[in-house]
Amino acid sequence: MFSKILIANRGEIALRILRACKELGVATVAVHSTADADAMHVRLADESVCIGPPQARDSYLNIPSLLAACEITGAEAVHPGYGFLSENARFAEILAAHGIKFIGPSADHIRIMGDKIEAKRTAKRLGLPVVPGSEGEIRTEEEARRVAAEIGFPLLVKAAAGGGGRGMKVAMTENDLDHALSTARSEAKAAFGDDAVYLERYLGKPRHIEIQVFGDGQGNAVYLGERDCSLQRRHQKVWEEALAPTITQAQREQIGERVAEAMRILRYEGAGTIEFLYENGEFYFIEMNTRLQVEHPVTEMITGIDLVNEQIKVASGEKLSFSQSDVRFNGHAIECRINAEDPATFTPSPGRITYFHPPGGLGVRVDSGVYQGYLIPPYYDSLIGKLIVHGRNREECMNRLRRCLDEFVVDGINTTIPLFRALVNDPDIASGNYDIHWLEGFLARQA
Ligand code: ADP
Repeated sequence: MFSKILIANRGEIALRILRACKELGVATVAVHSTADADAMHVRLADESVCIGPPQARDSYLNIPSLLAACEITGAEAVHPGYGFLSENARFAEILAAHGIKFIGPSADHIRIMGDKIEAKRTAKRLGLPVVPGSEGEIRTEEEARRVAAEIGFPLLVKAAAGGGGRGMKVAMTENDLDHALSTARSEAKAAFGDDAVYLERYLGKPRHIEIQVFGDGQGNAVYLGERDCSLQRRHQKVWEEALAPTITQAQREQIGERVAEAMRILRYEGAGTIEFLYENGEFYFIEMNTRLQVEHPVTEMITGIDLVNEQIKVASGEKLSFSQSDVRFNGHAIECRINAEDPATFTPSPGRITYFHPPGGLGVRVDSGVYQGYLIPPYYDSLIGKLIVHGRNREECMNRLRRCLDEFVVDGINTTIPLFRALVNDPDIASGNYDIHWLEGFLARQA
């Protein structure tokens, strides 16, 4: 086991990782920008290093600063969390070159899955069902028209380097195609420095169902059930649940076994998520995330497995500590992403938290780095915490969630808590009858 781990992240996930390290008896190094000197994970870490000014590119994305922090403190491994450098293959390679373990998959696996065209090709080769679309990159308008005629409309132009819902444009008919192509390209170029795009059939009413996988890099891999993340705004997840309300045990086992087998073939190491769209009983691969995800706690709540603890253990060279037959799914869990945003317009609402009272009780987990008096800096993602609730079944989980949302008080800033209070009382949400477009429709009706 490592004796010291550097946490290359901030906010709730930095605290989440710190908690796992403490329980393993591993010393922790927090890194922070000048704007985050007062963060909870910095206060609780054994050591902390300031790595630069507020802008992420000068601090949390600054590889030389992070390397220097490792060398100064003697950290043996780096946990990247999610976002920032978590899917940066070069970072993983540079750490390896300095004898520091990147807690996550190999740089090769990060690279393959980070390019969506390559990822789709790999998924297909591994026997996973994919969304029908172009074989690879689409270079010209003529090629786009030819492939579009085969796939049919509506279709989606997607950026190979895409992420966070950016670089994705719908073409309803052939008339929209050129425009969708050029806007997706320029958005991708601006956001990712790479304008490669491909075409995919646009599914009308799918659900977003993703499967948590876990491997030890030594050929052992398991699936840990699915999460339904269909409630999205601008392709960004808002509410996640496990297990999915619509998937049967037989379907779960079938798709789960297929992805676990794919991970065994790859000799995949650590936590990963295979994202699918699910429509009319069929799964269609869209992408793989080679890291821990924001919504990982719902899986932890139904399996009792601490994913960060397992990540650290396999990174230190241990074999997977459990097998597929040890994995049991108990009850139901829901996560609400609490953002510092106006609940109607979603404009960010940084500032000082004057009063903070999180809910508690049986089956309730609040992952958050904020506290009363904390000043939310304006430079980063607006996620300030996650409310995760478990119940013996979905109905109990929803009742508990409703109760928790009533208890939750955050004063001084706007948060998305009122949105969740509305959602938990909606009949479609109560019945589990929603798809990836449902939330946008709901928000339009509220406006
Ligand atoms: P990103 O990496 O930007 O998050 P994804 O490929 O994971 O992009 O897709 C994000 C979301 O966009 C999905 O959860 C889904 O809501 C929507 N989406 C992606 N591909 C399709 C498709 N072929 N048809 C319909 N919706 C899609």
